[in-house]
Amino acid sequence: MPSSIALYKTILDTFQAPVSRFDCGRKCAPLNEGTPVCCDVEHAIPLVDKHEWLLLKSRTDLWRPYRARDEQAKKELADKHRDCRAVECKGFMFCERDNRSLACRAFPFFPYITKDDELIGLSVFWDFADRCWVQSNLQIVEPAFVKECIAAYELLFDSDAAERKANRDHSAAMRRAFTRMDRLIPLLGRNGEYLGIEPRTHKVRKAHWREYGRNETFKDEKPAPAAKR
Ligand code: SF4
Ligand code: SF4
Repeated sequence: MPSSIALYKTILDTFQAPVSRFDCGRKCAPLNEGTPVCCDVEHAIPLVDKHEWLLLKSRTDLWRPYRARDEQAKKELADKHRDCRAVECKGFMFCERDNRSLACRAFPFFPYITKDDELIGLSVFWDFADRCWVQSNLQIVEPAFVKECIAAYELLFDSDAAERKANRDHSAAMRRAFTRMDRLIPLLGRNGEYLGIEPRTHKVRKAHWREYGRNETFKDEKPAPAAKR
């Protein structure tokens, strides 16, 4: 199926599971003047595909086009693909669960693609590790979330090679960054299992969630209980 409004409807219908049973916004919002970090355009400007935008616009007035307010935002958007639209929602107090974008549903995760071009699980947008509580508590992630997220992205990739390439490139950038830091890449496998990618060899292996490390911001907190696997 080529990218279309119908495809995005199927994708969003496929991907409904929450990341975890925690309201993680309550964990990071106190660090960000009361707003969950990933719902704040000062931290992340939402991007949606043009068909996703048409679908959301037909269902809700939650979203509107985003206008860059400063040079930094303009710079951030300069490289966006021509089929992407920068948008913003009315704010977390008005969130409509069924009308969240694909990126909202997936955050802080992205589909990880190996050097051999295989989608083997989900890893994290590590740039947000200092503000995103979930990334210091990956044991809370529900396997159903991982499965639905991967299924949604596979539907998308079947029709959008550029989107797949962008995630493949992002995975490669993560390998380079984690090699420099000499850190295990955290990875949730297709069934939610804990995996890790060795920083030097890029070999995938089983891991314990305690190996993922915790950001300074959250390291003194007691780890949250793990989801059932
Ligand atoms: S996913 Fe991360 S940044 Fe977003 S609300 Fe949860 S803890 Fe905060
Ligand atoms: S739609 Fe909901 S989850 Fe997405 S940015 Fe807005 S408040 Fe956050």
